[in-house]
Amino acid sequence: MIIIKSDKEIDKMRRAGKVVADCHELVRENIKPGITTAQLDAIAEDYIRRQGAIPTFLGYSGFPASICASPNEVIVHGIPGERILKEGDIISIDLGATLDGYVGDAARTHPVGEISPENQRLIDVTRQSFFEGIKNARVGNRLGDISHAVQKYVEDHGYSVVRDYVGHGIGRKMHEEPQIPNFGPAGHGPKLVRGMCLAIEPMVNAGTYDLDILDDNWTAVTFDGKNSAHYENTICVTDGEPEILTL
Ligand code: MG
Repeated sequence: MIIIKSDKEIDKMRRAGKVVADCHELVRENIKPGITTAQLDAIAEDYIRRQGAIPTFLGYSGFPASICASPNEVIVHGIPGERILKEGDIISIDLGATLDGYVGDAARTHPVGEISPENQRLIDVTRQSFFEGIKNARVGNRLGDISHAVQKYVEDHGYSVVRDYVGHGIGRKMHEEPQIPNFGPAGHGPKLVRGMCLAIEPMVNAGTYDLDILDDNWTAVTFDGKNSAHYENTICVTDGEPEILTL
C-alpha cells in the first residue's frame, strides 16, 4: 500500500530532508585526497545527532554505519572504513536521517580532487537523469513515466542503469511502497497523486549494469570494474511541480 502524506507529515519530511541536505553539504566539504571513508561517516553521524535526528542507515538490516560510502566501481552500500580517498577517485555518499519520526534519504557522487572528464560526465549524467525523471512526477502521470525518463536519458548518453536496486516510497519508514525502478516502459505502474513521497535514485554504470556483491554481503560493485555514480533525492508529489525535500 502506498501511504499518502498529509501536509503536516510533509512538513516533517521537509525538516528531515533539510538535515540530510545540510549533512551532504558538510560531507562534501570534507571530501579530499587523504581522508578515509570512516572519517566521513563520523562527521555525518555527529552532524545528524547534533540536529536531534537519528542516522537512519545505522543498524538498518544490520548496516554498520551512518552513511554508505561507495568509491569508483562500488555502486552502492559501501561500508565506511580505512580506505583512503585519493586524487581522481569518485565517491558516492548515501545517507538518511530520521527526525520526529520521518525519514529523509539522499545520495550524491562527488569528485575527489581533480577527476577525469569521463568521470565528471558520469556524475553529471547521473545527476541530470534524476531531474529528467522528476519532470514526470506530476499528478495524473504514472510511476513508470519517471522510470522510463531516467532510463532513456542514461542510455542516450551511453551508460546503463542498475537493475538490482531501485528507488522507493518513503515516510515513517525509509523503504515504503512503491518500488521505483530506474528503467521500464512509460505509462505503467501506479498513478501519482498529491502527497506521495518518493526517493528517486538513479544508479548509473559507465559499463554494463551487471554487478557483484562482495563477501561483506553489502558492497555492490560493477561486474566489469568500471565506475558507477548515484544521485538521489526525497521528493513529494504536489498539485504542481514536485517538491524536492533534500536539496
Ligand atoms: Mg534510497
